[in-house]
Amino acid sequence: MPEIKRKVMPVEVNYVCDKCGYGMMQQTGPTNKETGENPHECMICGHNMTFKGVTYPHISYMAEDDNVKSVQARHVGV
Ligand SMILES: [Zn+2]
Repeated sequence: MPEIKRKVMPVEVNYVCDKCGYGMMQQTGPTNKETGENPHECMICGHNMTFKGVTYPHISYMAEDDNVKSVQARHVGV
């Protein structure tokens, strides 16, 4: 296969709190090396959530001609 290139731009990906629907989730501790789970806490209401294999906020890349799509998080519960 030939090498292909395309222009992309960085985007910040945040997760809005499921509880208050207002605050942003932020990682509060180290990744669990066995399960890959990352503890997060809402910066506004303190709601705790755990994400597997992803942390927030993070930087992702998207093609310049793509529309902004919501990123489905793998929420694995508190
Ligand atoms: Zn909240």
